Amino acid sequence: MLAESDLPRAVRIREVGPRDGFQNEPEIIPTSEKVRLIDLLARTGVRRLEVTSFVRPDVIPQLADAAEVLAAVDIPQDVAISVLIPNERGLDNALALLDRHPGPRRAFDEINVFLSASETHNAKNVNRTVEESLVGLEAVLPRAAAAGLRCEAVVATSFGCPYEGRVESARVLEIANRLAAAGAQEIAFGDTTGMANPRQVGAFIATALARLGGTEVTAHFHNTRGQGLANVLAALDAGCTSFESSFGELGGCPVPVGATGNIATEDLVSMLHEMGVGTGIDLDLLLAAADEVRTVLGRSLGSHTLVAGPVRWS
Ligand code: ZN
Repeated sequence: MLAESDLPRAVRIREVGPRDGFQNEPEIIPTSEKVRLIDLLARTGVRRLEVTSFVRPDVIPQLADAAEVLAAVDIPQDVAISVLIPNERGLDNALALLDRHPGPRRAFDEINVFLSASETHNAKNVNRTVEESLVGLEAVLPRAAAAGLRCEAVVATSFGCPYEGRVESARVLEIANRLAAAGAQEIAFGDTTGMANPRQVGAFIATALARLGGTEVTAHFHNTRGQGLANVLAALDAGCTSFESSFGELGGCPVPVGATGNIATEDLVSMLHEMGVGTGIDLDLLLAAADEVRTVLGRSLGSHTLVAGPVRWS
């Protein structure tokens, strides 16, 4: 049985809702509403916040206002701002913005790059082979690092591909090693369509931590089949101390259509706090932010804690 001493005292959480979440909404959220929601999230105690993406606006019109959002948000210095970079063109645009951004802090501190571990998912998502994606990212990562940006790489379909089924762990780790060698300081392993189970996650994370040395290993689970938090527990037990999640359980993936949300940050935080694992996040403030996004979107969300409220013991 899992004892408190088996668990880390604290973990790091990156809130990805403003990017992974907002990009998957059918409607475009007004920029001012995004900024208001991001500013709320930035005051929950979360220390890492993925704010937007530099994808082509004709591909993802939901995030076409990346520059406006970054110019308007008011995020405390101690909250790391990350942005998603799809390719070299995206990096060019992001670096140009970084140069002309006024104010006391940089427009962003970290970049995220991504590819899929499986050929079919990568082809459908970015129209490249995995090797072509890797070569592209091997050009992006050193340039971002030279600009003083922390680099994270997300490997989607790390635990299974909706088109190809099983994805070999050895292949996923080989991709991760190439990304780490190119300058990624953090690798997130994504269960993009919720195919992973806890036993698989425990074994994979333990191997990844052993093989990736000084690179931070992050778990990125989707709750497509309701197994997100069970997978978190397995990852924690294997030694993972870094997670990505989305307020309101927003999010998904452009392919396949119907892929559902990331684990809800408020469900993750509730479970961790109840187990004595610190996150630095104030759950009540986080729930207030999730309640706001529910109002903005005008629909019910997948998050459980948003419906039930926090656990009250007295
Ligand atoms: Zn995701």
